[in-house]
Amino acid sequence: MYLDGEGLLGPSPRYIVWFHGCSRNCPGCIAIDWNRKNFPAFELSVRTMVEIIQQSGNIEGITISGGEPFLQIDALYELVSELRKTELGIIIYSGYRLSELKEMSNEKVKKILSEIDVLIDGNYEEKLDDDLPYRGSSNQVIYQFTDRYRDFFKSKKKEDFFY
Ligand code: SF4
Repeated sequence: MYLDGEGLLGPSPRYIVWFHGCSRNCPGCIAIDWNRKNFPAFELSVRTMVEIIQQSGNIEGITISGGEPFLQIDALYELVSELRKTELGIIIYSGYRLSELKEMSNEKVKKILSEIDVLIDGNYEEKLDDDLPYRGSSNQVIYQFTDRYRDFFKSKKKEDFFY
């Protein structure tokens, strides 16, 4: 969990939460070491995360990434449900395509998709890495389920990308 003041993964200031663990092993993944089972991860309960976020005052929102957040569906569901009670914006990065998430026919997945502002989907493809803002590779799609971040993403050009 990290307080981002530079707008790396959405409008700042915002909290970034990385869910530990992903089994895809995409070549070039920046989280590949963190995703190994034995790599030490800092375990936080959802309650603790929500308390930290609520106590942090003037933040714009939260970005959830990983790892693969949807592999910890109960925790993800609880976190999104709690945050949706606030005014905070919610962005999720997932290695699953939106179509794959829909095909799961899982009620918690459906509810999460109905409550977040943005999903950036798809795994990282090294061959398709062209430094696009807010996407690791061009196969990934930014789905905007609400208008909250429409202007933000529209205004971001390649030269604005910080990585
Ligand atoms: S799906 Fe994402 S987190 Fe998982 S290995 Fe691939 S790039 Fe890394």
